[in-house]
Amino acid sequence: MEASQSPQSPLPVFPSGLEPKEIAQACGLDEAYRAKQLYSWIVKGAPSFDAMTSLPQELRALLDQRFGGLRSSSVSSALEDGDGSLKLQVRLRDGAAVECVLLEDIEGRKTACLSSQVGCPMACQFCRTGTLGFLRNLGPDEIMEQFYFLKERRGFISNVVFMGMGEPLLNLPAVRKACFLLSDPEGLGMSLRKITISTSGIVPGILDLTEHGPKVRLAVSLTTADDALRTELMPVNKRWDLTELKAALLEYQAKTRERITLELVLLGDRNADKESAEKLLRWIGPLRAQVNIIPWNSVPGLPFKEPSKAQLKAFSEHLASQGLICVQRMHRGRGVMGACGQLGDTLRADP
Ligand code: SAH
Ligand code: SF4
Repeated sequence: MEASQSPQSPLPVFPSGLEPKEIAQACGLDEAYRAKQLYSWIVKGAPSFDAMTSLPQELRALLDQRFGGLRSSSVSSALEDGDGSLKLQVRLRDGAAVECVLLEDIEGRKTACLSSQVGCPMACQFCRTGTLGFLRNLGPDEIMEQFYFLKERRGFISNVVFMGMGEPLLNLPAVRKACFLLSDPEGLGMSLRKITISTSGIVPGILDLTEHGPKVRLAVSLTTADDALRTELMPVNKRWDLTELKAALLEYQAKTRERITLELVLLGDRNADKESAEKLLRWIGPLRAQVNIIPWNSVPGLPFKEPSKAQLKAFSEHLASQGLICVQRMHRGRGVMGACGQLGDTLRADP
């Protein structure tokens, strides 16, 4: 699969996905200050054109007519987990649906987990989204609106992770624009260091990020350092194997000097043994990496097993004993099928 093969969203972009100069053009505004006003209302989380009270009434009405509302999407369902997680299903203009999740850690820090595509073409065997197939890329407006919907319900969000549905590096133009809008000092002003892009290992996308930024944090879903097993579990490995992936990561690291996060979904009977941990340590070699262990979140119908507590403990202790920084992800969001790899209630929302 080539990075350029993925279809872009064919839909015109709503103001929520535009920066001021583009807003001026899309909204037919002659005066730059009007576009800036509109932008600052969007950033503040205004829910409609009508709420933008510093804009003339006629202009608000005109914009509402032109776009049919401020937002291109709407929330079609909200599910709260007992652990504080919130999962929203967002209905898009063409009837498709994606999901996004707000995760809150024990210190109260809020992270928005956003989707970048409707479904996912990567077909990882252990992932619910991967079983659904792929419909299309999201536009930057559709990505940003997920953020605004979560912020509306839960207040200040300090971190964003592109770990919802889809492969963000196959939709880099829209993801890049969303990173710009999230971090714009004139707008939301989030530090790029609080944004993480997680990829299954799209080598041209990693090289593109290396060359052109943005300088966000990079996470790579490695799963296993065994080529044959990775090819079985993650078809992306057929196109870019572990050798090519590592070369790209070394290049990324030489240029950015940033530590990489390697995500490891632990499947009870496949990659959780001592030999797998040792293979991983050998593969990592000179890479500066932190490992995030994610115990497999069960997905009905998929033939994998959650790792036992003992397996998890032994695996992480083995990595840590060799000096590797190793974090175990909690199960946040499981109660609403909102944890890693569990998203995908529907691609097409109910009519
Ligand atoms: N598509 C991107 C980002 C979204 S997936 C990627 O694959 O990196 C986010 C993380 O969830 C990835 O690390 C993926 O390996 C992991 N994941 C997928 N299915 C899972 C499951 N059922 N249980 C636990 N983690 C899973
Ligand atoms: Fe897509 Fe990521 Fe799921 Fe793989 S793990 S199918 S890349 S969403």
